[in-house]
Amino acid sequence: RRSQALDTLREAESVSLDGQRVSLFSNVELPEEVAFSTKQNAEGVGLYRTEFLFMNRDELPDEEEQYQVYSEVLKSSEKPVTIRTLDLGADKQVDGGRAKENQGTNPALGLRAIRMCLHDLGLFKPHLRAIYRASAHGKARLMVPMLSTVEELDQLFTLIEEVKQELAMQGLPFDQNIPVGGMIEVPAAAITADIFAHKLDFLSIGTNDLIQYTLAIDRIDDEVNYLYDPLHPSILRLVKMVVEAGRNANVPVSMCGEMAGNPEFTRVLLALGLREFSMDPSSLLEV
Ligand code: PEP
Ligand code: MG
Repeated sequence: RRSQALDTLREAESVSLDGQRVSLFSNVELPEEVAFSTKQNAEGVGLYRTEFLFMNRDELPDEEEQYQVYSEVLKSSEKPVTIRTLDLGADKQVDGGRAKENQGTNPALGLRAIRMCLHDLGLFKPHLRAIYRASAHGKARLMVPMLSTVEELDQLFTLIEEVKQELAMQGLPFDQNIPVGGMIEVPAAAITADIFAHKLDFLSIGTNDLIQYTLAIDRIDDEVNYLYDPLHPSILRLVKMVVEAGRNANVPVSMCGEMAGNPEFTRVLLALGLREFSMDPSSLLEV
């Protein structure tokens, strides 16, 4: 009965009682999930976690396989799809965690996400090429996880230019103007969101990691999860700072961490000025 009642909201506009428009996007991990996102009438995919293609298998996917999968995702959606570059490392290991000995003592603070990608161009370059090639088949947006300094962005932009030149020389079609956004999930990036906003087309707040790094709680350690509090004043302040930095720079800010999909937090996030939410599509109608 509850889900029938929610179903009636599917075609409804996302507008608050005082007339503020809100955009609801979905988070997906597998290409098959895009159909459900469309069914829920999401405005697009706000977070496509590409690392799932790399996990639980022995051989890493090559450029061609990635190109096929990302193309399939983009073809299956008429709306924008935000492809997040690989967020491997820490809790997301390619080999089911078998290489633990190489992880350092504190993997969440180590070589993960954009750090790992910039460190291993043999992994990253084919990934970027696959995304750019796939962009010929739909409305792609590119999003970078775990940024902590703008120098990482400068390196990324150089690589993107290289990839575009290579593809152009090979005569392969791609979208010249893919919007490039960054995830704000490290406190350093949240505090300097104004600086990031000047270099990016959009920002997306990743509260799962932002809470982990701000409150110094390992997100996968059950013994400390009682401290995992999205309403901690530090988190609310950081969210407010990022939203304001985006507004001042005229750069859209969304939130794609779990906090965005929990109706308990919707009001406070609206009050802090957030107008774009991305979540598991099963939470969308309720939010
Ligand atoms: C986040 O950190 O909030 C996020 C959306 O990324 P992930 O959960 O994949 O780390
Ligand atoms: Mg994250």
